[in-house]
Amino acid sequence: MAQMVGADLWHMNNYAGPSMALKVPEVPTSFSMQAFHYSKVIPGGAIVVGPDGRRFCDEKFKTRHGKVPINGRWMPLPTPVPMYMILDHVHFSAGPLYDKTPSHGWTQIIEKYDWSHDNSKELASGWIKKADTVAGLAKAIGLDPAVLEATVSRWNADSEAGRDTEFGRTLMLTPLSRGPFYAIELSPSMLNTQGGPRRNEKAEIVRPDGTPIPRLYSAGELGSIYSYLYQGTGNLGECLGFGRIAGRNAAAQPAWG
Ligand SMILES: Cc1cc2nc3c(=O)[nH]c(=O)nc-3n(C[C@H](O)[C@H](O)[C@H](O)COP(=O)(O)OP(=O)(O)OC[C@H]3O[C@@H](n4cnc5c(N)ncnc54)[C@H](O)[C@@H]3O)c2cc1C
Repeated sequence: MAQMVGADLWHMNNYAGPSMALKVPEVPTSFSMQAFHYSKVIPGGAIVVGPDGRRFCDEKFKTRHGKVPINGRWMPLPTPVPMYMILDHVHFSAGPLYDKTPSHGWTQIIEKYDWSHDNSKELASGWIKKADTVAGLAKAIGLDPAVLEATVSRWNADSEAGRDTEFGRTLMLTPLSRGPFYAIELSPSMLNTQGGPRRNEKAEIVRPDGTPIPRLYSAGELGSIYSYLYQGTGNLGECLGFGRIAGRNAAAQPAWG
């Protein structure tokens, strides 16, 4: 609509994320796995691999709204889909893989999905795949068995030695020691977007040349002022600030003639 009256768009590739989460067709929002919350320590082994069967990141890194340092710059966490969480039976049997405590987020508070305490319901639903061996698991999810076996062997050796030689992970350095083994497909997940019609300091929506479109104002997340890196917790402040600015300026306009 804004484009139809000549608005410029900005920050269209700016978003708060990504993280890696389970997304299934039956539920509109995603499930974060407890294992990959930086502050949680859960028994058993758990890693994430990409479609080539190899790890690609420190799975326990505390991202800044999905951004990680790469070559001296904060950039989105790489998410080579399909990604798979690979875990052993020790981890699987340590409790629910998903934290359903209603603290924040749509899935917990609105959807109220009742994740089973022993993960059996999600296993039966096919959300979690299972096999007796790592090679068998690889076949079940379409990965190269030899590569996944090598990935797990390296992770196990590294975690037993106390040093992740690939990505420097320091948390939950635990081998995938005991079968059966399990896989969960993960997708990129995010909190919110920032793109939309560009606004100026008066909350006026502007054209590509910077001139304001008469009587068109905006506030909030749609066309947020934040640039290509989301500034944590700035959205709500911006909503309040630009809501006041837009409201005052719109109310000061003369009535339509
Ligand atoms: C899980 C989560 C955690 C977050 N945590 C933080 C945080 O800690 N700090 C922070 O600053 N920000 C946070 N954010 C971002 C912040 O919540 C949002 O940027 C902010 O709420 C956006 O407010 P808004 O009024 O611009 O848009 P919204 O709150 O999205 O409001 C838009 C409204 O428009 C309605 N609507 C849509 N289409 C139509 C239509 N055609 N007709 C009529 N109504 C329509 C929608 O139903 C909605 O009510 C978080 C976001 C999420 C999802």
